[in-house]
Amino acid sequence: MDLYSRKELLAAAALALAALAIGLPLGIPGWALFAVATVGLVYQHRDLRKFVRWAKNPLRRPKFANEGLQQASRSLRRSLKQARRRTREALRQTSHFRGLTAALPDAAILVDPQGNIVNFNNASVLLLHLNREDTGNHLGTLLRHPEAIRLLEQQTPDATAEFSSPFVEGQRLELRRVPVAKDQDLILARDVTHLNRLLSMRQDFVANVSHELRTPLTIIVGYLEVIEDEELDDATLRQLVRKLASPTHRMQTLVDDLLVLTRLESSPTPEPSDLAAVDVKQLVDGVVEDLAGLAGKRHRINQRMSCDLRLLGIEKELHSACSNLIANAIKYSPQGGNVNVSWTDCGDNGAVLEVCDDGVGIAPEHLSRLTERFYRVDRAGGRVRGGTGLGLAIVKHVLMRHNSQLQIESEVGKGSRFYCHFRPGQLQAQHSG
Ligand code: ADP
Repeated sequence: MDLYSRKELLAAAALALAALAIGLPLGIPGWALFAVATVGLVYQHRDLRKFVRWAKNPLRRPKFANEGLQQASRSLRRSLKQARRRTREALRQTSHFRGLTAALPDAAILVDPQGNIVNFNNASVLLLHLNREDTGNHLGTLLRHPEAIRLLEQQTPDATAEFSSPFVEGQRLELRRVPVAKDQDLILARDVTHLNRLLSMRQDFVANVSHELRTPLTIIVGYLEVIEDEELDDATLRQLVRKLASPTHRMQTLVDDLLVLTRLESSPTPEPSDLAAVDVKQLVDGVVEDLAGLAGKRHRINQRMSCDLRLLGIEKELHSACSNLIANAIKYSPQGGNVNVSWTDCGDNGAVLEVCDDGVGIAPEHLSRLTERFYRVDRAGGRVRGGTGLGLAIVKHVLMRHNSQLQIESEVGKGSRFYCHFRPGQLQAQHSG
């Protein structure tokens, strides 16, 4: 692109010739040329001033007499417009990224190929304690863990790393590296403490169930081998088959309790329409009758059912909870022990269901863990007494589903008190049912 077009050059040459044609006969050709050049310069100067004004806002449409200036400014305006469009698009994408990552519950950090922080979302502030001054710093150095550094510097083929948080004790963090652009990776970080705990609970659970089943199974297999291998008379055979009953019953009880617990854990919270007005006195009578075999004549079961209110609940579940509490009171108290069951009206505070015994009692350090599955104070003793280790876990879930919770008071050698409150809204007077 030339500064002057052909037309302009021709016009300038024509003007110069015209000046000479006028100036020569008058004997002043120099002055004539000078006058034409001055007019040209003034003309150019006007264009230059216009250009300076336009350059302050080059997105306006240019309008210059000089063809070269006009074309140059037009192409400059075009490039500027394109650059502006590209910047707008980049900004739109950045704010889109911010919007997306801000909604993420996990920390999201954009890093360059060296692992230096480019951008990060709000969750990163909470989880990784990042702040604006950290932009440009190496994420691995801030996290102060070799696993994190290896992942960020791509020294490992793995796309994830798990390590203990340097900020919160006991918290486990998982980092995941996701390539998002040629020179940028997204690092997603999340708190996996709860997930790890669930995983280890599941492993413990499977190990516990296998262990509980193995003992009775080993006994059954032992007896079956004897029956198979040896010539036995009828009486011995019958005696051996009778011995199979106890381990078989134990396995059955364990599987039954597991099914009850699984059902309780996986069922949705009961709707008001699922609830019936349960007569607690009748319920306890039924449980005591069922447990007559377990109590025998060795325990006295005393009922103090002074409350006439009915409990809005699921009868089968409440039966199971009562049965576990009373069975435990019998199992963990010596011969001649007293088991007291009471249902007491507490006026505005609702009503309390309580099972007390004067048995072996429980040391304080065990109390908070008793409702965990398979937790036993005395592992071997619990099994000998015929427990599955799931009874109190079942009670806990039943009560949770009835807006209540199990409370325990106990003293070693003196006895235990298991009780729970039900709110007035869950109780109903006898006659209104
Ligand atoms: P288990 O089938 O072993 O009885 P539970 O879940 O019912 O399992 O109870 C857990 C543990 O709590 C028992 O192993 C026992 O150590 C303790 N426990 C429960 N009830 C009583 C009680 N009434 N007196 C003393 N210890 C009890």
